Amino acid sequence: MLKKTHALFGMAIASLVFRSLRSYEYIVMTGIFAVLSDLDTVIGLKHRDFTHSLSFTFLVSLMLYVASPKGYELAWLSAAIGILSHLFLDSLTRGGVPLYHPLSKKRYSLPLVAKHVKYDSLTANLFFIFISVFLMVKMMQGVLIWNPT
Ligand SMILES: [Zn+2]
Repeated sequence: MLKKTHALFGMAIASLVFRSLRSYEYIVMTGIFAVLSDLDTVIGLKHRDFTHSLSFTFLVSLMLYVASPKGYELAWLSAAIGILSHLFLDSLTRGGVPLYHPLSKKRYSLPLVAKHVKYDSLTANLFFIFISVFLMVKMMQGVLIWNPT
């Protein structure tokens, strides 16, 4: 998927997870982490390799858990949500993701769907952008906030 799709989808998931905190900072932070995996080529790494794995997700989350600044103690969760949402969207495309890298280079993608979807598919990107914006708007309106009372 495209970077804007990753960012918006990560923010949509974060708006659900962090809804009780009413913290827009975590939502924006998650959007940034949702794009992080695709910056692999910027630093000279092979595309869709280590940065698209569960071990990368764990490593980044652990680093933030250990060294998050005061007031941002949940930054690790923001990173985990952002990177996992990235892995999910990329697993919907033909290329798949090497989830268990470096233990295995096997790429995983969603059966039936992935073989028909290119990363830059206009339909798939617009679908997830629409879903993401819809979820965020509904969260802001308080429509999707679950209230057990
Ligand atoms: Zn990617």
